[in-house]
Amino acid sequence: MTTTTEIEYALTPSESRVRKMYIGGAWVDAVSGETIDSVNPATGEVLASVPRGRAEDVDRAVIAARRAFEGPWSRFKPVQRQQLLLDLADLFDKHWDELSLTDTLDMGKPLARTRADKARVTGMLRYYAGMAMNLDGRTIKNSQPGDLLSYTSREPVGVVGAIIPWNAPIAASIWKIGPALATGCTVVLKPSEEAPLSPLLIAELMDRAGVPEGVVNVVTGNGVEAGAALAEHLGVDKIAFTGSTQTGQSIVRASAGNIKRVSLELGGKSPLIVCADADLDATVPTVAMAAFANSGQICIAGSRLLVDRSIHDEFVERLSIFASELRVGLGVDLDTEIGPLVSKRQLDKVVGYLEAGVEQGATVRAGGNRLESGAFAAGNFVAPTVFGDADDSMSIVQEEIFGPVVVALPFDTLDEAVERANATPYGLAGGIFTQNVGTAHRLAARVRAGSVWVNTYHLLDPAVPFGGFKMSGYGREGGAEHMDEYLATKTVWVNL
Ligand code: NAD
Repeated sequence: MTTTTEIEYALTPSESRVRKMYIGGAWVDAVSGETIDSVNPATGEVLASVPRGRAEDVDRAVIAARRAFEGPWSRFKPVQRQQLLLDLADLFDKHWDELSLTDTLDMGKPLARTRADKARVTGMLRYYAGMAMNLDGRTIKNSQPGDLLSYTSREPVGVVGAIIPWNAPIAASIWKIGPALATGCTVVLKPSEEAPLSPLLIAELMDRAGVPEGVVNVVTGNGVEAGAALAEHLGVDKIAFTGSTQTGQSIVRASAGNIKRVSLELGGKSPLIVCADADLDATVPTVAMAAFANSGQICIAGSRLLVDRSIHDEFVERLSIFASELRVGLGVDLDTEIGPLVSKRQLDKVVGYLEAGVEQGATVRAGGNRLESGAFAAGNFVAPTVFGDADDSMSIVQEEIFGPVVVALPFDTLDEAVERANATPYGLAGGIFTQNVGTAHRLAARVRAGSVWVNTYHLLDPAVPFGGFKMSGYGREGGAEHMDEYLATKTVWVNL
């Protein structure tokens, strides 16, 4: 078992329990002087306190970001922004042990997984570095009489307010900061109050890499205080938001004040369709981890499992055995596959769904309970759970649980499977499991979701766009589309 003390805190000494936030290149307290505790969800221990930022702190950060946007940062050439991103990638490589441990302690994700995220996050930074040199406009042949030149340039949209959840704090921070640096925007990042510690380490790395003051600011605080103030702020040009659909709706409303741009990565209730010809040996573990990875606290968690009736019982039996054999434990234990839920609030919510599932008539095939004995007593642990005998009207089938819970539902025809897969207000992701390439492509075309994986799940890549349909949001992260979210096109006409 790896423990906290075995890994040196190279950036911020572990005894430093009172953290500051990062505004205009300086480490500061909230104007009010108030703080919020950040708690280890595996042990209940308070890890550190962070400033409780409010509107006046957001205001300071937006002013710093505006000043930077209009100041020296605007004169940085793409090649300089590229170098900054490459330097950041090297720093992230160097300090990954501390970053990954911080996420594990702060939000519970197993250390083996947070360590494995390194390639993805540094890959993102290096991808954005490449994109910084690929933001050209175009010359357009117009049809006007005379000699008129028309061309476009792509300009940074301005000050970006980035609001992120707690379930992948490092990656979510970089999915917002990376494209901003590549395009020449400036950022005010508001991490989740549940997991603010790694975003503060990221601010420290920005400082070390020489990101000019005010280009990246991190304001800690609650959603309804700091988050709402950022979404409403008239000095913010764009909000890049990742979080729940409900919060996304209030951000859209708040954006109306200055018609700021908004991109939204929201919730999901993603369907997995297992066809009769699926390779079960490969599909059972993939489906299990689609549902249970990060304790189900992933927006794309495959939580509605539609299985062809001819293989349903065998599949559910094998999935349930797999679920009950998963190693649940403290995130710092390198053998742990499933860690705790992020907070007591999240634990209560998930336990509420477990109870509702049983009350509404579903059968528990694996798990179904909170884990409370021994080392689990002080933490927020739930056993990976498989429900059977459910119907589509149940709340466990309709609503995003954000816990390690999957519901199995038999289907008889592929048309029926698609119809039921799409019978949700969400449209973030879906999975298809079949050995027939024709079936795979036909179903992929019909599932109404921003990402569809066939015989795999969860794959994300900086070059590949990711985002939602329907109430899972709009805008894309990843790929050239991601840069578009941070750029405004200017057209210039010249009478030659
Ligand atoms: P949340 O919506 O409660 O909070 C997300 C962020 O918004 C936090 O920083 C929070 O402080 C802030 N916030 C809360 N209320 C706000 C308000 N009124 N105005 C402005 N900001 C506010 O979500 P969460 O519980 O942190 O995260 C879980 C949700 O995020 C799930 O629904 C999940 O599906 C979604 N999510 C989506 C993606 C994606 O890429 N689509 C990725 C991860 C998580």
